[in-house]
Amino acid sequence: TPDVRPLVAGNWKMNGTRESLTEIKAMAEGVQGALSEKVDTLICPPSTLLYVATALCTDSPLMIGGQDCHQNVSGAHTGDISAEMIADCFGTHVILGHSERRADHAETDHLVRSKVEAAYEAGLTAVVCIGETADERDAYQTLDVLKRQIFNSLPETATASNTVIAYEPVWAIGTGVTPTVEDVEIAHAFMRAELFMRFGEEGKRMRILYGGSVKSANALELMSVENVDGALVGGASLKASDFLAIYRVY
Ligand code: PEP
Repeated sequence: TPDVRPLVAGNWKMNGTRESLTEIKAMAEGVQGALSEKVDTLICPPSTLLYVATALCTDSPLMIGGQDCHQNVSGAHTGDISAEMIADCFGTHVILGHSERRADHAETDHLVRSKVEAAYEAGLTAVVCIGETADERDAYQTLDVLKRQIFNSLPETATASNTVIAYEPVWAIGTGVTPTVEDVEIAHAFMRAELFMRFGEEGKRMRILYGGSVKSANALELMSVENVDGALVGGASLKASDFLAIYRVY
């Protein structure tokens, strides 16, 4: 998208111990230089590593984020973390509504929307994941699902700076299977039109990432599609070499 800085984001999911901090250190070093003027980078490690990870990135453009937050500011929610806690660890972003959270923790669009609001309240940028399941795709419901998820998961106050959309077809996550370039183009053009209708100019500049089995071998093809403003990468974000290879397709 013209005038939109791409974002290459990594989601570590439930992977990573202190040992893995060497990868974050290598990423922090690897994204320095001229390309970082053009392309933003973000890694979302498990919350146990957040604070140490941001400390490794103080001299680097690499940004660090959380993978989820609770919709409330604080309180009796054992095991959860709040948006403020992520911000307190110098995290700048939080992934919300990932299909694994929707599936494992029964997160609905409306809950995701409350979490997005909590993220804004703490000054975080929300990376809101949407995408159809295999069954929905087979039933030709992809665009309906995207429309519903955009409508219900995003608050009225969403802007191009506090929100990033990540289109992740559920069947493409962790499977090695990706949609065709044509399918990605159709989905992203549709989301762009929906965002423009709802948010006007902000919707024109809101980043729409593609996610689902992105690796260095397919990144150039996927990132070249119109209205694809970067990637949300799972498996290939665990190793600095893989993540940096995706970043360098720009
Ligand atoms: C993800 O879970 O956000 C993801 C895109 O995973 P993978 O790249 O491993 O398919």
